[in-house]
Amino acid sequence: MPAAVAVPWAGWSPRARREAARIVDAACVRLWLTEVAARLAAERDFLTQLDAAIGDADHGVNMHRGFTAVMARVGAVEEATGGQLLKLAGRTFVSTVGGAAGPLYGTAFLQAGEALGDAERFGPKLLLDAMRASLEGVQRVGAAAPGDKTMVDALTPALSAYELELRTGGSLETAVSGAREAAAEGMRATIPLQARKGRASYLGPRSVGHQDPGATSTTLMFAALEQAVLADRSQRFAGGARRRVSGP
Ligand code: ADP
Ligand code: MG
Repeated sequence: MPAAVAVPWAGWSPRARREAARIVDAACVRLWLTEVAARLAAERDFLTQLDAAIGDADHGVNMHRGFTAVMARVGAVEEATGGQLLKLAGRTFVSTVGGAAGPLYGTAFLQAGEALGDAERFGPKLLLDAMRASLEGVQRVGAAAPGDKTMVDALTPALSAYELELRTGGSLETAVSGAREAAAEGMRATIPLQARKGRASYLGPRSVGHQDPGATSTTLMFAALEQAVLADRSQRFAGGARRRVSGP
């Protein structure tokens, strides 16, 4: 007789399920990094075209190179918390990517990793702290304000939308969806702006009418976050909760 297929969460109380749905762990962070790497590979040429219009045509190549190195190093580490993985990603980015994006994204990942510390699992609030630390890091290094036509124009509204969703009773899923939507809106809103930071600022008024490459790659990262969280939740609840696979 075949063994009965266990539905690990079947006996959980609604509260236990709600709690489990809020958890982010290292596996989810890995899923996110993997999704970012795949999207950067797919969008490499598009990002480079955007940078060709108002920069030096290397943003897609830079990001793809950096994330290929990140995935190689992350893949070689078996036991690590989400925070440790993000710190590794940040160090790798700083050492393999030049230009503006290398130190900026490197700092963002490092700061997010620092904020998460060595927590094995964390909830939506700590994820908000990590996003905030990333934005502060990017602004400390690059001194860009919203409206300067940079990655800050996607990161700032994404963070605000995520925070608002949490404050108004939203779930982790709705918060990351809201963040992705707001990032995309911020990205599109860079088109009419004149760049005041980075290489694009050298063009002055000629930078108007083009979408910022860095705001575009930041939006890609939020889209990857949404996808990773949703995929992780469906795995957690449909395929068997990881917390329960080897125990009662
Ligand atoms: P580089 O401009 O050195 O060639 P990239 O092309 O990889 O580097 O990255 C360009 C992106 O970096 C821009 O589209 C912009 O979003 C971002 N950027 C540039 N300078 C800054 C800054 N000071 N603060 C925040 N983001 C910046
Ligand atoms: Mg460039």
